[in-house]
Amino acid sequence: MQLSSPIHEVKGIGPKTELLYHKLGIYTVSDLLMYFPQRYIQYPEPVEMGLFQVGHIVAFRGHLVGRPSIYTGGRMPVVTCNISDGNIKIQMTWFRMPFMAKAVKVPYDQVFYGKIISKNGRFVMEQPRVFRIEQYEELRHALQPVYHLTQGLKNATVTKAVRSVLESGIWPKEALPEKARRKYSFPSQKDALSWIHFPSSTEELELARKKFSYEEFLLFLVGVRFQKMQLAKVPNSAKVSDFALQEKLVGELGFELTKGQRGALEDIRRDVSGSGCMQRLLQGDVGSGKTIIAFLSMASFAQAGYQSALMAPTEVLAQQHYESLCQFLDSHGLPFKALLLTGSMGQKEKKRNRELLKTDMPYLVVGTHALIQEGVEFSNLGLVVTDEQHRFGVRQRDSLSRKGIHPHILVMSATPIPRTLSLILYGDLDVSVMGDVPKSRLPIKNAVISPQMRTAAWKKIYKEIEAGHQAYVICPLVEESEGVDAEDAEGYYQKMRAAFPSNIRIGLLHGRMKPEEKNAAMEAFSKNETQVLVATTVIEVGINVPNATVMMIENAERFGLAQLHQIRGRVGRGASQSYCILVNGSGSEDAEKRLEIVRDSRDGFEIAQQDLKLRGPGEYFGDRQSGGLDFKVADIYQDEELLQEASKDAVRILKDDPRLEKESHAEIKKRVQEYMKQRGEIAGL
Ligand code: ADP
Ligand code: MG
Repeated sequence: MQLSSPIHEVKGIGPKTELLYHKLGIYTVSDLLMYFPQRYIQYPEPVEMGLFQVGHIVAFRGHLVGRPSIYTGGRMPVVTCNISDGNIKIQMTWFRMPFMAKAVKVPYDQVFYGKIISKNGRFVMEQPRVFRIEQYEELRHALQPVYHLTQGLKNATVTKAVRSVLESGIWPKEALPEKARRKYSFPSQKDALSWIHFPSSTEELELARKKFSYEEFLLFLVGVRFQKMQLAKVPNSAKVSDFALQEKLVGELGFELTKGQRGALEDIRRDVSGSGCMQRLLQGDVGSGKTIIAFLSMASFAQAGYQSALMAPTEVLAQQHYESLCQFLDSHGLPFKALLLTGSMGQKEKKRNRELLKTDMPYLVVGTHALIQEGVEFSNLGLVVTDEQHRFGVRQRDSLSRKGIHPHILVMSATPIPRTLSLILYGDLDVSVMGDVPKSRLPIKNAVISPQMRTAAWKKIYKEIEAGHQAYVICPLVEESEGVDAEDAEGYYQKMRAAFPSNIRIGLLHGRMKPEEKNAAMEAFSKNETQVLVATTVIEVGINVPNATVMMIENAERFGLAQLHQIRGRVGRGASQSYCILVNGSGSEDAEKRLEIVRDSRDGFEIAQQDLKLRGPGEYFGDRQSGGLDFKVADIYQDEELLQEASKDAVRILKDDPRLEKESHAEIKKRVQEYMKQRGEIAGL
């Protein structure tokens, strides 16, 4: 067995199981080793039998009283017995595990671990795991890996496979330069791998995690910087240097640009009139007004005779951008034409628009990201703007340049990270940061409430609607789901319709609706034909309805905090006072504390950082919220220092060996290539 061997060579993995691993993206032994746990669990300290609560997973010490009995219930063997700690007795039940009868029949105390349920007024533990006391003590200190799974694959199965590979003594070569390893006293590859899968303490886990985070940052940054060196050479083949019209448009906007918007516009002007091709990131928190910068830029290109494209991550957003763009062109009396291109458009219309793009007309195109990949031919594309995409995949850039076009590129992102980090993470781009929001905005008022206060919240919504405004209500689920105790958009929509007077119109929007239905629901809301929009997180990015002043989020505890911040950004976009109501559906105090972070802060970066502080060890790889800057292990909020260090090291490495040709860089070169390919950002080394 080697690192590159197919996964079925691992002991215990047959052809059927192999397919399940494939579903998780695990094809080789090396993939399996690098498939890190999503989180870890720690066995709890044993409690006294009287002190546990029904529904909780607990451990306690006790011994067998009487004899275990075996009977056959519904064709399966069932073992039951009573366990006592000297005072209280609890019933244990095992299904399909007849051997447990023997396992409990020992003359000493054991530890029983499982979920306590109540059955016919008695406490029962079903399918408990049984340990010798010393064995349990040992386990208590260790963290048990929990892997992300797919149906049919059990956690224990993956655990066993990983263990067997680790025991066979093969692991990937060290990629980090010796110097870095010594400088940070990182553990060896072997230790780091066994500690990340099977840490015997949180300290071990942290050491391993730090090493892999650093490694991941380094691979990424070397790749990105290498890219930048390649791309810097693209000459400007769509020069635009007349901004008189743009300046006139700015004067007609009806509002004054913020300092950040001004700065961004000037950066862009400098780029597009210069000698090289623009590769710029425009970063601004939700509501900072990025769209208008895109429109103004696109107008300049049209005036200079070039086509431009604005790409959005969802159809709903593309549709909305298209409508605002048409309105923009119209209200300023501009002679240019906007075109829409989305997947759900009729074939005929799509074809017609594609044909139009082949002509020399300087169209302003709006579409989904698929727009460019779908083989659209532009006659003279001068500018590509991507909205709400955190990194413009080099693959996309590549697919354009292979067609012989080198448009200017503007990436717009709302990821709330400080400028210093942006400069590092987007090392292949120049960065403009818009740090301010329009002056006319009032800060959003926030509240965390319990479901009992829902009626009061609805009254608030009603009052806002009477004042001419609109409201969003976000639910975590689309439809009612058995076993999940959370609000669903469809049920909620019915409830609200029943509760509100019929002159208040309520809309519904969720991911399972057809694209046309989604567009219609969004359009009705943006025209104030519906006053309330009950939705799932489909509205998370980009949607702009400035007249909406209330954002109510049901089961807010189920969302990541950075995500809540993004969702909240859908209100507070106009001049009126806006409100965000976070409903804590769980009643848990921990959830309350987390939600209070969002309530009390307006700073997305701070929110993400605070969120991490509240989490315990072993929750590291849970739902990280790096806003599209997805790293497997590393976390930009938690590992800021490592990132800074890795960045310096990346620069040093490439300065010393720009093409990574030295023998000592062979491994890192290989890994950078693999890593960037995985990310869809070919490093081309
Ligand atoms: P985001 O940066 O989140 O994409 P948008 O571009 O959608 O934000 O802008 C939000 C709203 O703010 C829009 O309705 C837009 O017209 C308005 N807006 C943009 N710039 C300004 C400004 N300088 N002053 C007032 N309103 C502005
Ligand atoms: Mg936007």
